[in-house]
Amino acid sequence: MATTWIITADTAVSSLLDTARSLGAPVTLVALTPEASAVDGVSTVVALDAGDAPVEALAPAVAETVTAGDGDVVLLPNRPAERVIAGALAARLGAPVLTGVREVGTVSVTRARFGGIALETVATSGPVVIVADGGAEAPVGEPVPATPTTSVYPARVTASSAASTTVANLASAKRIVAVGRGLKSEADLAMIRALAARLGAELACSRPLAEGLDWLPKDVYIGVSGQTVTPDLYLAIGISGQLQHMVGAQDARTIVVVNTDDKAPILAYADYAVVGDLYDVVPALTEAL
Ligand SMILES: Cc1cc2nc3c(=O)[nH]c(=O)nc-3n(C[C@H](O)[C@H](O)[C@H](O)COP(=O)(O)OP(=O)(O)OC[C@H]3O[C@@H](n4cnc5c(N)ncnc54)[C@H](O)[C@@H]3O)c2cc1C
Repeated sequence: MATTWIITADTAVSSLLDTARSLGAPVTLVALTPEASAVDGVSTVVALDAGDAPVEALAPAVAETVTAGDGDVVLLPNRPAERVIAGALAARLGAPVLTGVREVGTVSVTRARFGGIALETVATSGPVVIVADGGAEAPVGEPVPATPTTSVYPARVTASSAASTTVANLASAKRIVAVGRGLKSEADLAMIRALAARLGAELACSRPLAEGLDWLPKDVYIGVSGQTVTPDLYLAIGISGQLQHMVGAQDARTIVVVNTDDKAPILAYADYAVVGDLYDVVPALTEAL
């Protein structure tokens, strides 16, 4: 019988688990970390302990573990290390790697093309490696003992230190406050941060604020060349809503917009909109919250 594999470096894989369970085959989770735990609905968890090797160097060990046969589906979350593993694994297995996948069936997958403005259906036979959104944190159970492996590429972590920027966990964020070029100065980010903090939200932005203005780190901009997010709430402030931005945010459950322009494209995506100046609306909203 076919197996569905999930390869992941962390536990933010609830969407992949839903997909795996829907396929009906036994699910094996390969954890790219020695600290793995049992997961509901997963028949086997294999925890790989690569010592001081970086996650990406585990590709040979993953390939040895995943003996994918006909009909096997290998799922990986769309994160940097797992994308590297997906490519290396697909090459080893002689399997296609499909990215941007939205739906997985037993004989076909649907995936986003051209930044999400088109959907493509791909018929599959034999093993297939699929990169899709991982989803939120999955509930975990008892710890699983790790299997030490020496099948790693020759790379090792020699030092690690805290980065100067705060790490954002946008992929699993329930609430996101995103800001765009409507903001006049970097100092005004304090006002947006205050609103995000009041909402318990992560801070994100449009690309110009992260690439060009450099007011925020590059890993927090949303869009076709940035992050794709699916929060319950996406509050977009001073963002015009160009397609390249919206493909990363359009699947948010509720989109709230603050913009001075009542003809801004983002209004077409909004569940609620305040047409007004963010310098009036944001402090008032923070105060009201
Ligand atoms: C190949 C390619 C890839 C790209 N990838 C991405 C991507 O991944 N992510 C991304 O974001 N962009 C991406 N872009 C850029 C994208 O096309 C837009 O240029 C960008 O998203 C615009 O950012 P913005 O909405 O912040 O700025 P603008 O388009 O300048 O919009 C600013 C908005 O703020 C409003 N505003 C101004 N003042 C105020 C105020 N006081 N109060 C309230 N509202 C105000 C304006 O009405 C306007 O709607 C890409 C472009 C290309 C060509």
